[in-house]
Amino acid sequence: MANVPVTYLRRLRTERGVTLQWLASQADLSISYLSELERDEDKRPSADVLRRIAEKLELGESDRALLFSQYEIHEARRKACLFVDGKWLQIVAIPKIAERLGGSPFRLDFGKLPEILGRQFGSDVTVTRKCFSFSSAKNIHPADEVREQERLEESRNLLSRLRSIYRWDVLDTPTDYRGNHLRKELRKSSFVPLNPVPVALTAEALLRAAMADRIDVAIFLLGDAVYKPCLTALRQLGVQVALVSLRGACDNALIRGEEQTLDWPPVWIDDEQLLLALDRPAKRRSVDCDSKHHQGSQRVYTTDEEVPGQPFYCDSCRVIERVSEDYERSVEEHGSDLPELDGRVVRTGPRGFGMIESAEEVFFFHASSCFPESSFSDLTVNSSVRFSVGALPGDNPRYRYGQALRVRRLSDTPSQAVSPQPDSG
Ligand SMILES: [Zn+2]
Repeated sequence: MANVPVTYLRRLRTERGVTLQWLASQADLSISYLSELERDEDKRPSADVLRRIAEKLELGESDRALLFSQYEIHEARRKACLFVDGKWLQIVAIPKIAERLGGSPFRLDFGKLPEILGRQFGSDVTVTRKCFSFSSAKNIHPADEVREQERLEESRNLLSRLRSIYRWDVLDTPTDYRGNHLRKELRKSSFVPLNPVPVALTAEALLRAAMADRIDVAIFLLGDAVYKPCLTALRQLGVQVALVSLRGACDNALIRGEEQTLDWPPVWIDDEQLLLALDRPAKRRSVDCDSKHHQGSQRVYTTDEEVPGQPFYCDSCRVIERVSEDYERSVEEHGSDLPELDGRVVRTGPRGFGMIESAEEVFFFHASSCFPESSFSDLTVNSSVRFSVGALPGDNPRYRYGQALRVRRLSDTPSQAVSPQPDSG
């Protein structure tokens, strides 16, 4: 390597009377990246980048061989990173796949996904990093809270499984709903929530392409045309770019002129072979719930994966554990003598969430907060209750509403079966 001039590429180019700008645009590289290649023999371009340059300079056999010998190329194993637009995947792609499967649920196997997708682009492509960009909703409308809490809980659960079981890098950039409904149909048309997912994912991808120990291949799982400049920029930085998307959920503009942005034709995740390989079988197994709040037999059936070294909680206890964590934190902060308030149940949800109105304020509670004085099934809409204030509205940035703890039904109030009394406040 030492006897080859460092500026060999530069010499080849200038001999042909070609400007840096011309070659960069012809070979689909950024001017600054090409200029670095010309100056720095320690750069490690992919063989594909050198092939593009050699082709545009119309190099003969010997010049081509010399150019390739100047750089250290890692052709044997290409390092790849998988970038997933998690919001598109969860909200658009997976429901569409399920629809195509005739309504049966599709459970994407996040454990196998990186390896299987990597293989689509060559047996030497190894996915070493996985990045899932998501956006959790915060400050949603009060009437959404009970129903949508369950959805929020499901996404929290997915993000934590991705982190702890599959070791993904999870970018969770929250979207502030400023009190608006989560569901589009119910929302004021003037309110359009910002979607921070593409910007976060783009920034991450460019960062990984610019780092010293950079990636050779970027595989994107997404369908939005907003990513096109990102794909182009990565390719200009010498990274090979691959797209995995879903027919009918992929913006046409994203794949128009694909030969300029992609190194392979797009791979469709809805191809039967891929779907079959990526569907995680719902293995039902019996396991003991480790929560001390568990009611009934500890033995439950689940299709959730185990997290090694962590206690297992069933669906309802997982929520209870979160609430009791908050409770312990609030006891730590305020002592055990929490203030008490009286109120009226205004809403209950199927999975143990409910809301209480007290004077002007709204409090949120979970079935676990009734234990042991009352049971959740005793509490129906309009039940009068007494509760401890775990948090006042606005106390905890994670919740918009106050948190009611130790909720118990006041026994001397008429039940819902009796005609409701006018509410005097
Ligand atoms: Zn349990």
